[in-house]
Amino acid sequence: NFEESKILQNLPKQFFASLVKKVNDKVATGADVINLGQGNPDQPTPDFIVKAMQEQTAIPANHKYSQFRGDPELKRAAANFYQREYGVSLDPDKEIAILGGSKIGLVELPFAILNPGDTMLLPDPGYPDYLSGVALAQVKLELMALREENDFLPDYSSLDPQIVDAAKLMYLNYPNNPTGAVATPEFYSQTVAFAQKNHIGVVQDFAYGAIGFDGKKPVSFLQTPGAKDVGIEMDTFSKSYNMAGWRIGFAAGNADMIEAINLIQDHLFVSVFPAIQKAAVTALNSDQASVHQLVALYEKRRNQFFKAARAIGWEPYQSGGSFYAWMPVPKGYTSESFADLLLEKAAVAVAPGTGFGKGGEGFVRVGLLIDEPRFTEACERIAKLNLFQ
Ligand code: PLP
Repeated sequence: NFEESKILQNLPKQFFASLVKKVNDKVATGADVINLGQGNPDQPTPDFIVKAMQEQTAIPANHKYSQFRGDPELKRAAANFYQREYGVSLDPDKEIAILGGSKIGLVELPFAILNPGDTMLLPDPGYPDYLSGVALAQVKLELMALREENDFLPDYSSLDPQIVDAAKLMYLNYPNNPTGAVATPEFYSQTVAFAQKNHIGVVQDFAYGAIGFDGKKPVSFLQTPGAKDVGIEMDTFSKSYNMAGWRIGFAAGNADMIEAINLIQDHLFVSVFPAIQKAAVTALNSDQASVHQLVALYEKRRNQFFKAARAIGWEPYQSGGSFYAWMPVPKGYTSESFADLLLEKAAVAVAPGTGFGKGGEGFVRVGLLIDEPRFTEACERIAKLNLFQ
């Protein structure tokens, strides 16, 4: 009989596992649950990417151990992508690391560049898996509040100077999960100045980078002068190309951080299945028409959902990107009691804001990952509960 290590015992509970269980329990009662709780993209991977993968799978050379540190062709494609899309120059060898999904990089980075007891800053609310990196690296966690009145951007001037002094690393995530907020170039300039002044490394999670609404393409952190001196951006194929099950992403930016990530990769992985890396090259080199179609679909869904919610007096936060709506909880409820009520009485699943940290209290997250008739039906069911006057 083996016990889990102390480090593993300290890992946070997987919040989504308990949400899925609640939803499954409800479904088991025969209820027709409308699931707006999860973040798993519903659209298929574009055909031309699947085809590229199938062709590459037939090539025997792709069945061998792949190159350490990723396929050079993919690293060049990632660098070209940044140049083309954002006007950012990157050295494919030194400033790009190929990852088996961006989550791997996000979780291993604290372990790669911090020592036990060091301090790192995370956004609150924030993507729950960042906490796994804190636990694995045995570092001290401090939170940066994201408040609606500040458009869900951290306010660096409000942070405790002692904490700022101790901090060595911070995470950002725009377009934001769970709020749908987007960052401005001015905010990123402030971030670089803050990071330089206080010697803090920055990791900007760009998982939803392609998904911006109202004709506004989200800016990359790396477009900010000085960004590469202080940090990296994490990119994934999971959302923009619906390749979540394929497990592929990359990190781009500061060469020291990239080297640290690559060192871990050398020891723990070799790299991603070569056929997947080649298909990823095809995705990045494409004209991005599939991405534009996908963004149009999410924007349409967002607008439809907002309309249906407003019709019942439920006023959303005006998100600028990602595929989530961040919805306030009516008076008298907590995030959790409201989410439980919707599941219980309306068979509508939403994610309680507190699943993303204490800072998510007062909100629930709605995933726009099903088609329109179901949103409207969800709102009609919720309207019958007479919660919004
Ligand atoms: N970062 C954020 C904010 C996410 O929402 C997700 C997935 O839901 C990820 C990272 C993980 O992406 P990947 O599939 O590349 O591991």
